[in-house]
Parts: sequence; C-alpha cells; structure tokens
Amino acid sequence: TEKTMDKIVALSKGRGFVYPGSEIYGGLANSWDYGPLGVELKNNIKKAWWKRFVQESPYNVGLDSAILMNPEVWVASGHVGGFSDPLMDCKDCKSRFRADKLVEDDMTLKGAEVASADGMKEDELMKYIEDNGIVCPKCGKKNFTSIRKFNLMFKTFMGITEDSKNEVYLRPETAQGIFVNFKSVARTTRKKVPFGIAQIGKSFRNEITPGNFIFRTREFEQAELEFFCKPGTDLEWFAFWKDYCMKFLLDLGLDAEYVRMRDHKPEELSFYSAGTSDIEYKFPFGWGELWGIADRTSYDLTQHINHSNEDLSYVDPVTNEKYIPYCVEPSVGVDRLFLTFLVDSYEEESLENGESRNVLKLHPALAPFKAAVLPLSKKLSEKALEVYGQLSKHFMVDYDEAGSIGKRYRREDEIGTPYCITVDFDTLEDNTVTVRDRDTMEQIRLSVYEVADYISRKLEF
Ligand code: ATP
Repeated sequence: TEKTMDKIVALSKGRGFVYPGSEIYGGLANSWDYGPLGVELKNNIKKAWWKRFVQESPYNVGLDSAILMNPEVWVASGHVGGFSDPLMDCKDCKSRFRADKLVEDDMTLKGAEVASADGMKEDELMKYIEDNGIVCPKCGKKNFTSIRKFNLMFKTFMGITEDSKNEVYLRPETAQGIFVNFKSVARTTRKKVPFGIAQIGKSFRNEITPGNFIFRTREFEQAELEFFCKPGTDLEWFAFWKDYCMKFLLDLGLDAEYVRMRDHKPEELSFYSAGTSDIEYKFPFGWGELWGIADRTSYDLTQHINHSNEDLSYVDPVTNEKYIPYCVEPSVGVDRLFLTFLVDSYEEESLENGESRNVLKLHPALAPFKAAVLPLSKKLSEKALEVYGQLSKHFMVDYDEAGSIGKRYRREDEIGTPYCITVDFDTLEDNTVTVRDRDTMEQIRLSVYEVADYISRKLEF
C-alpha cells in the first residue's frame, strides 16, 4: 500500500500528533499545533540531536540565544539586503509563485535526477520559464508578471511607538545568534578551535509558498551547529559533519533507500561557500531538502567584524597565529525531521490472521510513549496503576484499560509505542507481566522489577 500525505495528515490529526492551527477560528493558513503525542515526538527528536551534537561531542557546546536581535545583525548577515525569494504572479488568476520552485517543478516533471534552481538569477529563471513554456499551475495560462524580490523576514515593533526606529525582525535562522556569541563562548568555555556551538530554536520566514503539511511553514524550529575550524582544515570538517549527520539519521532507523546526499554543483553555491551538500529525503511528494550542510568559510565572522568593529579573530594559543576561523554549518529543520520520521516509520501491514494494522516503526528513542500498561481486566487496575507509577518515573508511559486487548494493541501500534505491558491475574501472584514487542509482536514474560531496565536499554542509540 502507498504512503500518502493525506494518510499522514489524517493520522497526525486523528491521534494528536499535529492539529491545524487556530482551528476553532477557521484556522490560520499553514500554521500547525503539535498535540500531546506530537510534542513528545518533537522533544525526543530535539533530545536525540542534542545528545549527538552536544552531549556526545567533545567539540561542541550549547547555546540558547534570543529570537529578537539588534537589526544591525541582519544587515551584517546579508539578510536585509539579500534574503529574498523570486516572486512571480499569474496575471490571470492572481496566484503567487516562487519562480525558482516553478523551474524546479518543471525540471522534475522532465525527469531530471536532480532539480535545482539554486544559483539561477532572475533573468535566467525568466528565460527558463519562457523557453520551456511553463504555464501557471493553477489556471494553465502563460501570463506571468516579471520576477520581484520578496524579503522573507518578519518585521515587528519593539516598544510602544510603531515607527521605523523601533523595527525589529523575528530571526529567520538561529545561526546569527551563534556568530554574535562566538567570542563570549570561546572565552567562557576556554574552548580551542576546532570547536562548535549548537542551538535549537524557532525561526520565522514569511514564505511565499508554504505547504506540504509541516514541510514548509512560516514558523519553524531549526537545529543548527556552527563549527569553527582553522582555514585550510574546513573541507575535512565539512566531510566529517556530512557523515556525522547522515549517521544520525540512519542510527535512528531512517530507511537508507529514501535518503541521499546531494552535493551542490559549483554554479549552485553561494559566493562565500566552499562546499554545500543537502541531505534529501524522498517524501510522498518527491525529494526534498532535509538538512543543509555548508562550508561557509570566514564569511559570517568577517561580516560581523566589519559591522560591529569587534575583533572576532582567534589567536592560536600554541602557535600564536591569528586568524578568522572558517565555519562549517549543518542546519536542519526540526519539523522537517518530524515529518521525515513520521513518513518513514509509517507502515500498513497485513497480518497472518487476515487482519491489518497501521504501525509507526519509530526508533524507541523517538516514540512518544516508550511503553503502554494494559490491564487485562478492570479488576486489575490497582496493580496496573502501580506498574504505571513505577515505569513513568523513567519514561513516558501510556495507560489504557478500555476495549479488547487486540484493539488496544492496534491503537498503540498506530502511535508507535514499542512495548505493551499486559497485567493479568498471574501478575497478582508472581509479580510478572507480559511484554509485547511492537514490530515482531512477540511476547516475553518479565518480572515487574526488570521491565524499566529492559526498556531503557532499548532506548539507546
Ligand atoms: P529553501 O531553498 O527550500 O527555502 P533553504 O535552503 O533556504 O530552503 P536553509 O536556509 O538552508 O533552507 O535552512 C536550513 C534548514 O531549515 C532546511 O534544510 C530545512 O530543514 C529547514 N527549513 C528552512 N526553511 C523552512 C521552512 N520554511 N519550514 C520548515 N523548515 C524549514
């Protein structure tokens, strides 16, 4: 059976992973709220990233910088001048498009292995659109306006007067909060280059064409690492972090057939980048960027040196060499990781007895609930709640005593709970329970005292 976005969206809404935003007011386009299961999955993804990129890395430390920053930051970073998408309207039906996405969709349609308009200028995009006779995807006409640049930053006002002096931006990426704190972090942690600073947080972009559920939204979370190294060693570190990111995904169970590393061609690169690669995933709507990994050279620190007049260069404590570190940036969208793991783990299985089940084969580290406690009879509630009380000290546990045991297994399978623990009348006698594995559906009998350890070991990755 086919995995479709409709099924994923329906499951998300039906089981409390993701709800449409502001729904009782008729919604707010392309905004989404994470429900009780969604917040668990999202937190688990962030925890897994933090574990790999901060906790287990001898190089990296964490940061949580502010969303609102001095507007000069965004001048220095190039976002005020250049953070824009090429916007185009259809004169007939008034639909709005990103010209680069129209071109990429056409490339895909024509069977291009890789469809990328990165690096194409406005006139090149326009020429491609005209030469290939691209029509408006909404109304089929060929009557487009010229391409205009549309800045993606959200503006608001800080303080009580709404004039331009008080204008601030919602950050469009978390990276700049890292660059402006480079010196403070280096000083206070006494880290020596090479080292990295990691951050997870919300970013905002006024996207022209959001869509595909939570793939592209205007408010989203990013997990970014800025890794500072000596110029000349950057390409080695670039390769190192590419592998590291890929391993993270595969270790958490992503199907290798659906993931690829796409190295950008020289003409796609930003002028300051010495190398960029995207890890892409094959979503039901096609290949999409999941993780961008870029060698940004000394571009960002240099820009901040020039605009802030602060000396952000680094002095090697051994050789006394002074230089501006190069920076390798792996940047991933948490919501995109969420969508990826949801899509990738979703399966519809036919069972031997002729029944079928929907399963989320999420890695136990990511699953919203690690276990569900299911008493076989309501008469066993007291004992079952005692087991629930013991296990929930260690991890998230569901409790369900409603309906047949078969139905309860199906419900837990569908939300990805890796272990179902049934409490029966023998439990009252010998303090053992049955533990059922979500994927194999095999059952083992364990002492109540062993269960927390047994499941905790399965959470490792
Ligand atoms: P695109 O060209 O598709 O707009 P981008 O190349 O501008 O994306 P980056 O600036 O490299 O994206 O952002 C880093 C990561 O942040 C992306 O790989 C993606 O996972 C995530 N991301 C970017 N924009 C969005 C968005 N609007 N919604 C959700 N996630 C996003």
